[in-house]
Amino acid sequence: MRSMLIKNINPNKPSSWEDGLFLTFDIDWACDDVLAYTIDMVEEAGVYATWFVTHDTPLLERLRENPKFELGIHPNFNNILAGKYDPENEKNAEEVVEKLLSIVPEARSVRSHSMTQSSQLLQLFVERGLTHDCNHFIPHQTGIDLCPWYLWNGIVKVPYFWEDDVSFICNDNLNNVGMLLQRKGLKVFDFHPIHVFLNTENIKRYEAARPHYYSFESLVKLRNNETFGTGDALRLLLEMMK
Ligand SMILES: [Zn+2]
Repeated sequence: MRSMLIKNINPNKPSSWEDGLFLTFDIDWACDDVLAYTIDMVEEAGVYATWFVTHDTPLLERLRENPKFELGIHPNFNNILAGKYDPENEKNAEEVVEKLLSIVPEARSVRSHSMTQSSQLLQLFVERGLTHDCNHFIPHQTGIDLCPWYLWNGIVKVPYFWEDDVSFICNDNLNNVGMLLQRKGLKVFDFHPIHVFLNTENIKRYEAARPHYYSFESLVKLRNNETFGTGDALRLLLEMMK
């Protein structure tokens, strides 16, 4: 099955989304070794992928060098919503978006951390040149065949139907990910490099690893080597895309 890029989706042109698979990655501040592990896997498979960037890292250059990769942004509005004031941090939504766009000026696609969205944010995205919003999660279990659509302000909404952590939190068998390729309509998958690296199979593993998020040496020891996990699910999809 063909892989495709979010930024190229045209709701009026089914060939830009109907028969493909969209791999997306929320980088979520992963340390470089963790992120590089996922990049290695995806590059080895030679497929198209969209990376939602949270921070600056030398690995952005590596991602940019691959013509099959798209860089989008993954803004985090949680601190603002929680009223956590830190003079070092951004003061409002505009600053959050602008800071990320200064790191990824070419971004056309956006998915917020925690899927935060509102009509005002969607307007802000359009004003800053973003064209595709991936904040609608409609679980594959609904059985709804998905499609992209235009909003009132011209932004393209791109719903996604599978996310690694939602899958293992809901005890949805990660092994079933391959069966989703049989589904009709838009097929967007969302992975996190931390879960790919840990091969996370349940939330307990992630909670145990969370305090060591930035210590690669510690994370190596906390990986799941026994059961089918998120890394295996990605490997399976990449294998089926060949
Ligand atoms: Zn996130």
